[in-house]
Amino acid sequence: MGIDLHTHSTASDGTVTPAELVRSAPSAGLSVLGLTDHDTVAGWSEAAAAVPPGLTLVPGIEVSARWHGVEPGIGLHLLAYLPDPADPELSRALHRVRENRSGRARRMVELLRAGGVDLTWEEVLADAAGAPVGRPHLAQALIRRGLVGSVSEAFSPQWLGHRFRLPKEDLEVFEALRLILAAGGVPVFAHPLAHRRGRTVPEEVIGEMAVAGLAGLEADHPDHGPQERARVRELARAHGLFVTGSSDYHGTNKEIPLGAETTEEAVLDRVVSMATGSAPVVGR
Ligand code: AMP
Ligand code: ZN
Ligand code: FE
Ligand code: FE
Repeated sequence: MGIDLHTHSTASDGTVTPAELVRSAPSAGLSVLGLTDHDTVAGWSEAAAAVPPGLTLVPGIEVSARWHGVEPGIGLHLLAYLPDPADPELSRALHRVRENRSGRARRMVELLRAGGVDLTWEEVLADAAGAPVGRPHLAQALIRRGLVGSVSEAFSPQWLGHRFRLPKEDLEVFEALRLILAAGGVPVFAHPLAHRRGRTVPEEVIGEMAVAGLAGLEADHPDHGPQERARVRELARAHGLFVTGSSDYHGTNKEIPLGAETTEEAVLDRVVSMATGSAPVVGR
């Protein structure tokens, strides 16, 4: 049975509710599921209440961060496993990121409207149903309008990939690491070499992050090819980090199925033993 440590629900930009996600995990061949919505713990309690027998839930957060070593800064994602969801400092920081995200999404809607796309902020908000609005929500609106045929087309440069994309204000990466560690969480750098998503931080930064308490690197990820996976493993060895594998499942917002990539059991044991903020939820 597999361990998939990075998935999204409707609490951020996935299309499956937290309860549906944990219920569907065993039939995807999983015994352990990490729920890592962007910048929020809003899905945790619903997921925890629905964990079926035979499944263990590892609650987490995918934290939006930025490295400012170049101008403009480079965005990156930190997975935070098992932090204390009530930690005041981390909660405040995530709240700020979500507020910024919402303002930015709103301005992106304005930009689209100015570009002749007839869509409203109210409609996008309603579709997001309380989740922080991200580009995948805007992609769905464009599909509903018949302006694009698919989510990947919506992410092309003419649309949300470049023309109508605005930058996000994220947490400074070393501040994010500090906050995750102070909340008892275990920080893992998500898809560190996913060049096809845009700029990635220089490899030297990974060494600095390791010194600052980074615990692991995501190696097996759909956005990494064979070379990147091998390179991530070399970097992990060099800096004493563990490696994870995960699908980054987003429901129908992406084509990757749940459980497409998995993590070794020994690595999961390390994550759980390092965490002091919260504990996995065992289904019974
Ligand atoms: P945002 O945080 O609002 O900029 O949106 C980023 C999210 O969009 C990521 O978490 C991915 O889930 C999704 N995404 C990014 N690029 C693509 C793509 N090419 N196709 C589908 N989804 C994408
Ligand atoms: Zn996402
Ligand atoms: Fe990510
Ligand atoms: Fe993700």
